[in-house]
Amino acid sequence: MAEFILALDQGTTSSRAILFDHDGNVRASAGQEFKQYYPQPGWVEHDAEEIWQSQLAVTQRALAAARARLEDIAAIGITNQRETVLLWDRATGKPAYHAIVWQCRRTAAMCDRIRREGFDRTLRDKTGLVTDAYFSGTKIAWLLENVPGARERAERGELACGTIDTWLISKLTRGLVHATDVSNASRTLLFNINSLDWDDEILSYFGVPRKLLPEVKSSSEVLGEAALFGGTAPIAGVAGDQQASLFGHQCFRRGNVKNTYGTGCFLLMNTGSDVPRSESGLVSTVAWRRAGATTYALEGSVFIAGAAVQWLRDEVGLIKDAGESEKMALAVPDTGGVYFVPAFVGLGAPHWDAYARGTIVGLTRGSNRNHLVRAALESMAYQTRAVVDCMAADSGIRPEALRVDGGAARNNFLCQFQADILGIAVERPATSESTALGAAYLGGLATGFWKDEPELGRQFKIARRFEPSMSASRREELYAGWRRAVERAKGWAT
Ligand code: ADP
Repeated sequence: MAEFILALDQGTTSSRAILFDHDGNVRASAGQEFKQYYPQPGWVEHDAEEIWQSQLAVTQRALAAARARLEDIAAIGITNQRETVLLWDRATGKPAYHAIVWQCRRTAAMCDRIRREGFDRTLRDKTGLVTDAYFSGTKIAWLLENVPGARERAERGELACGTIDTWLISKLTRGLVHATDVSNASRTLLFNINSLDWDDEILSYFGVPRKLLPEVKSSSEVLGEAALFGGTAPIAGVAGDQQASLFGHQCFRRGNVKNTYGTGCFLLMNTGSDVPRSESGLVSTVAWRRAGATTYALEGSVFIAGAAVQWLRDEVGLIKDAGESEKMALAVPDTGGVYFVPAFVGLGAPHWDAYARGTIVGLTRGSNRNHLVRAALESMAYQTRAVVDCMAADSGIRPEALRVDGGAARNNFLCQFQADILGIAVERPATSESTALGAAYLGGLATGFWKDEPELGRQFKIARRFEPSMSASRREELYAGWRRAVERAKGWAT
């Protein structure tokens, strides 16, 4: 019997392959970085061939490390950088142009025009998303307009379009399968999250022929056979990275929330079978579809989180490594009234202020480096609180705990302060591979490798739980200070 699930974790800067065993343990893994292209200021591209080659190389290395062959793989689960999109030739499998990466701002002016025309409201209602260059739709429209011959070839059905999951599925199946899953589709700005289909009104607005787009599958079903290294294995799980992470954190129930603390923060709340509506600047998205049921999520992103710590290290030279920040923060009882709003690139959810800039307020003669470092860490917790408050208001559910991962979640001070400032427990799972594990779970559930969520629940371990220990009055006093600091940061760059 096949022993492993193979998770392919195709990220923004690296491709990884991880083999999980039946207990959810990592048995082998390999990773490799690939090139980032910056052809103009604000533009970001990837070479999809390089993505595929790196993904193939790490898969081979991970299999070799576990002495496994494709026959030992019960299922493949794919998780990927979301929104990044490309066109390729159906006959040759060759990309028509570089993939346009989620970070790329080249369609910002197109988004301004959409808002002027008032179509952003239609997009919001149908796709759950805000009109922003971040999502794939305007990138696809740009490719069709700007890649020579693309529109004609698309109309003739010669081209295929897809996000990175779709590209990998096509490569793995030698061009036989052109498919995506609902969670990735829900990030394109072309997908109606109510009807779970590409939306004809939106397609015609953007001039995207339906036949260019992949078939939309659930996140947990066999959607093709991967043919690799002389063997085959079923591709049975697919989800965008943040949705896969929510699943990997076992946030299976309505109201469960996870937060990934990396460069920025990505928060997702499971809202169950109801399409959530945000009144507070969050986006609504499909979390996953499995066993005939669709689960939705509210999502809020904070642009700068761990990057504030990086900034203190690289630009200010206040610390030598990120880990040192914990000791320094604990060396003082509080920040002495200092607040650091790291709005280096504006503010994301829930403020959406592109003109906000980084601000440090409350400095006195007694403020020292420990206070500043502590204020940087606390800023992650305050920004997270703002998003969780919005999630609670939009969904009507107060979460019981926050599950955390990402580089900065290793910081115990941060986790404790987060619990204090939210007034709910923070749970840090034993695994640091929630994203890859989520993709593995989706693949393993579809093929009977695992039976159901309760079975997965029995193998899930929380390594550490941080209980809130701050008084409610202190918590609200500190948070009120943060809100005043944010007001000082807003609108600065006008
Ligand atoms: P990404 O995937 O976005 O690159 P990671 O999950 O690898 O991010 O996390 C890296 C980020 O976490 C960096 O911005 C770094 O400054 C921050 N970080 C790493 N370790 C710590 C720590 N112990 N305390 C605080 N921040 C940390």
